[in-house]
This record gives sequence, C-alpha cells and structure tokens, in this order.
Amino acid sequence: MKSFVSARMPDYWLEELGKYFEVDYYDWSAHGLLDEADFEERAKDSHVIVVESDKISRGLIERASQLFAIVDFRGTVINVDIEAANEHGVAIINTPGRNADAVADLTIALIIMASRHVLPSIQYLKEGLWAEKGRYWMYTTCQGHDLPNKTVGLIGLGYIGRLVAKRLSGFDVEILGYDPYINKANLAGLNVNLVSLEELLERSDFVSFHLPLNDQTKGTFGKKQFSLMKKSAYLINTSRAAVIHEPDFLDALQQGKIAGAAVDVYPEEPITTDYPLLNLPNVICTPHIGGASLDVISHQSRIGISALVEFLQGSTPDNIINPQSLEKARAKMQEISV
Ligand code: NAD
Repeated sequence: MKSFVSARMPDYWLEELGKYFEVDYYDWSAHGLLDEADFEERAKDSHVIVVESDKISRGLIERASQLFAIVDFRGTVINVDIEAANEHGVAIINTPGRNADAVADLTIALIIMASRHVLPSIQYLKEGLWAEKGRYWMYTTCQGHDLPNKTVGLIGLGYIGRLVAKRLSGFDVEILGYDPYINKANLAGLNVNLVSLEELLERSDFVSFHLPLNDQTKGTFGKKQFSLMKKSAYLINTSRAAVIHEPDFLDALQQGKIAGAAVDVYPEEPITTDYPLLNLPNVICTPHIGGASLDVISHQSRIGISALVEFLQGSTPDNIINPQSLEKARAKMQEISV
C-alpha cells in the first residue's frame, strides 16, 4: 500500500508508517509547500495521505480511487473536503491536543509578561531610558504584580485550558473555570472551581481564553463582558480572535476598562504594523506562535500515526472525525488486502 506524507514527521514515525506502507515523504519545511496541482499529482495514487497544511479537495478525493484514510495533523480539520470524504469512504483522522502543551506554555509566559511589564521594560532598556532616567525610574515604572493569591479565570477547559490549569497549580493562584460543556471527570486532580461566566469575569485578575470559534462563540465577548471585568485585570487570548468583539476590545483597552491584554491571534492574519492593538502600550502581541514548538512535530505524528495503526488493526480510534465513512473505508481497505 502507498502513502504520501506532506506533513513534518520525525524518522521514528516515518519508519513506523513504513511497516505498513510504501512512504513517499515530502518535507515542506525544507522545500516549501507544494502548489495544489503538484500536491494532487503526487498524492493521487495513495491509499493514505498524511497532511498538515495542504488542502485535500473534492477533486483529489474523487481522483484518488484507492484512498481510504487521511491523517490530518490538525485539531480542527479545515483543509479537507469532509463531505467528499464521507461520500467516497475516506476516514479522516485528526490530532487533537497536538500543540496543547505549546499553547499552554505560551499562555503562562503571556500572563507573566503582562503582570510584570516585561515587554515595555525591554523596550525602555533598548531606548536607553534606564541610563537616561535612572535606576529608580525603571524600577518603579516597571513594578508589576506577583501571581500568588491572584485569581486566574479560564474560559474553555479543553486540552489547552486544562494544561494551563495544571501549570498554574504551581503558582499559588486561585483558578476559576467556565465551560458549559465540560465533562467534570476531565478536571480530576486539577484545582479548578467551576463558576458562571459572570462570576469568573468579576473575580479574575487574569482572564484567559481557551474556547473554540464557532457560531455560538463568534463575537460573543463584548462590551457587557468587559464591563464585568476588574479595571486591574488582564485578558489573554491564545484561542481565536473572532470570539471577541474587536471594537469593544479596543475601547476597553483604550478607556482603561481593563489594565491590558496579551494576544496571539487576530481576525485576519498576518497583521501589519498599523494593526490597532499592536500599537497600544498595554497590549502584548505575538504572531500566532502558540502552537509553534518543534516538539509538536513528534506529538502530531504520535497521535495521528498511532490512530492510523489502530484503524488498520480493526479498531475505531476516538479521533476519526467522520465515522459515517467507516463502512466504505473498511471495505476499500479489505479489497486491497485480498
Ligand atoms: P478543545 O476543543 O480541546 O477545548 C475547547 C473547550 O472549550 C471545550 O472544553 C469546550 O467545551 C469549551 N467551550 C466550547 N464553547 C464554550 C463557551 N461558549 N464557553 C466556554 N467554553 C466553551 O480545544 P483546545 O485544543 O483546547 O483549543 C482551544 C482554543 O485554542 C481553540 O480556539 C483553538 O483554535 C486554539 N488554538 C490556538 C493555537 C495557537 O497557536 N494560538 C493553537 C492551537 C489551538
């Protein structure tokens, strides 16, 4: 059986895949992304395609008559025509939580950067203000807050929110959580007090977003929610920008309704230097690097390829996102093995 891999994978996992398939590996990080036509030409005879960034169109799914599984190294499958995969019996395996550690780490970094004014202090230093204005000016201007005895509110307690809670347990903070869909068993061992969104906003010194963007969440955090937050509070958003109503966000930051913010995600990316939040003194902006750790390459390979192997061995792993494809996908697989 043939596989085409256009996602980054370490040797160990390529060898693992090689136990079941002939592997054609294209490393986009070394050679640049393939254009759509080249990608389709190379992938069309595969039984399995492993992707990270490339688009899998209806056209390719219709052409690739032997294809029975796609492993997509993403949490949310936005690059595959899922309807076409269902119709043609192609199981789609995703990799939830592949970069959750990386985003949780960045969230903690942003909380500390915001509370201790790390970014402006570095800027003042580079501008020569330490030497010019003296030690005490810098010391008092950059005085921030300790974390112990503060309250951190986590909106969304999925893979990332829970790992942020786990990390925070070492900081002696109170952790509040709001997630209307949480399975409480998933919070075992985490010191999270589940509260209403209103209570979380009223009590938190840091409010950190870890919820998905969907029709229910889009633009739902606005004026009313900002008015509930403490004036001294910081908002951290490493989730998706569009969950926050941007004009109300700008207003809250400019009018001092909250102390500041740190964001990794934007309504349209990449942003340019005139992006309004980037130029506010009380905002830290990072360029959507939440998931950008080298360790993610191993995590996504482990989650995706282990699930593919389970599927080949007849099980149905939890991360097959389109179970309606399974009957046809298994039939295709059996035809090949006969
Ligand atoms: P997840 O699906 O594991 O968790 C999301 C949680 O949010 C779930 O527990 C869900 O019940 C909860 N939720 C849904 N609607 C909610 C609402 N209205 N209010 C509160 N909670 C709600 O997702 P995850 O992997 O933890 O990712 C969290 C967010 O981080 C997503 O928006 C994702 O796109 C984003 N993300 C960003 C980066 C980055 O580079 N910055 C990388 C990966 C993921």
